Amino acid sequence: MGPQTLTKGRPAAGAVREILNPATEEPIARMPDASVAEVDAAIRAAAKAFPVWSGKTPGERSALLMRWAGLLESHAADLAQAESRNTGKPLKLARDGDIPFAIDNLRFFAGACRVVEGGAAGEYAAGYASFLRREPVGVCALVAPWNYPLMMAIWKLAPALAAGNTAVIKPSELTPLTTITAAKLALEAGIPEGVLNVVTGAEETGKALTSHPEVRLVSFTGDTETGKKIMSQASSTVKRVVMELGGKAPFVVFEDADLEAAVQGAVVGAFVNCGQDCTAATRFYVEEPLFKRFTQAFVDAASKLRVGDPAQGSTDMGPLISAEQRERVEGFLKRASKARVLLGGKRPKDFKRGYFIEPTIVSGAAQSSEIVQKEIFGPVACLLPFKGEEEAVRLANDVAYGLAGSVWTRDAARGLRTANALRFGTVWLNDHLPLASEMPHGGFKESGFGKDMSKYALEECTVVKHVMIETTGVVRKPWHYTVYGDAA
Ligand code: NAD
Repeated sequence: MGPQTLTKGRPAAGAVREILNPATEEPIARMPDASVAEVDAAIRAAAKAFPVWSGKTPGERSALLMRWAGLLESHAADLAQAESRNTGKPLKLARDGDIPFAIDNLRFFAGACRVVEGGAAGEYAAGYASFLRREPVGVCALVAPWNYPLMMAIWKLAPALAAGNTAVIKPSELTPLTTITAAKLALEAGIPEGVLNVVTGAEETGKALTSHPEVRLVSFTGDTETGKKIMSQASSTVKRVVMELGGKAPFVVFEDADLEAAVQGAVVGAFVNCGQDCTAATRFYVEEPLFKRFTQAFVDAASKLRVGDPAQGSTDMGPLISAEQRERVEGFLKRASKARVLLGGKRPKDFKRGYFIEPTIVSGAAQSSEIVQKEIFGPVACLLPFKGEEEAVRLANDVAYGLAGSVWTRDAARGLRTANALRFGTVWLNDHLPLASEMPHGGFKESGFGKDMSKYALEECTVVKHVMIETTGVVRKPWHYTVYGDAA
């Protein structure tokens, strides 16, 4: 980490933000917005560290990243506490889900960078040998959202650093705490200064970072509209971009599905992390003969969710991240005047403080309506009936997004046919949400392009170089010179 970006100097505009606990609305930290000059200093620190870090063998980088993962693990309990306090997510979700998964992801990349290859070497033109190298791209600008702060930071940092790049990461202005702790632990693990830099701040800081000429790759996770802006910010210096954007996942339930499993999957899929998940199940297409039974069972199960203090072990759902996010979710519900609210839709009465909202299920909204088409990023599930496989696929695909979706059926052939027909980066059969570090995560359509996790993320963080060697060793005129005759 370049600590200068955290401690030295004040932001040009003097902006210092209060970091809030969304469950209590109380400030838990203060954080400066990095100025353009501070962003520049962080990028210069990363550029300076690049030859040192990229010059290490994969084994050396791997050992340091593994040591970092070990330190994160030994601080896992504190990281989970901090994540829960800063995001409002139930402690059990941070402790048993986000933090261990982030560490697993880091370990995966620490191992995977040792088996990166450049592909086959050979003679593809007479008298020449070719080989390929996979090289790091350079300084990476990494921009993360607030829903899984540490996990998103690691998803971005781990492949970038493992591949030999150096990085400047900007966590969300709402949730910078665990990224800063993780960066300090990286230094403690022996990762050289300048390899991992953190800048805090919001849009202006992000703009300075993603448009800086020295940056060669921008990897962004966040809202689709922000992604479009970042693509244009990155375009004047032709940076490589990886875009992990919004989603509006379909959850397709056929009549023959295991109802109990589907309902359980629906509750988790819709309401985990208070619905603030890019792969959250949001559009529930249920085959007509099952629609009534599924609806009743889903409403019954969701009404048992315990909303409350994230620190309590029994809490299933905490608050939304901010007052603004709650107003946004409420705005969707207000404008969906034709939809029938079957559950929730309001702020729970019991809480005087915190950005809480009830788990909400609606039905009767039109396929073309805003609530069905746009990402809400809150605990709102829309139920829609369908007739037959063809209609299910058509409706499920009928959105601008393409991140993830699921299909629930006992008919394996139909499950596979439907999975193949869905235009989403991940399709689950008879489940919704699980991920694995070895498998890619990324979208189709306006959910973006490029992959997080898996060997494909390592590929995103490297560039292929072709080295071509003249092998005859004799003075001669290569074939292409003859085009110009003796003049060449
Ligand atoms: P956001 O787009 O508002 O902000 C994301 C980050 O971008 C923040 O750090 C923010 O400060 C920064 N930013 C904002 N404007 C910028 C600009 N012009 N230039 C550079 N940086 C800028 O997103 P959010 O509200 O923090 O997160 C929620 C969104 O993230 C949802 O749309 C969700 O679907 C998406 N998301 C996607 C994935 C995925 O893997 N596809 C994963 C998690 C979240």
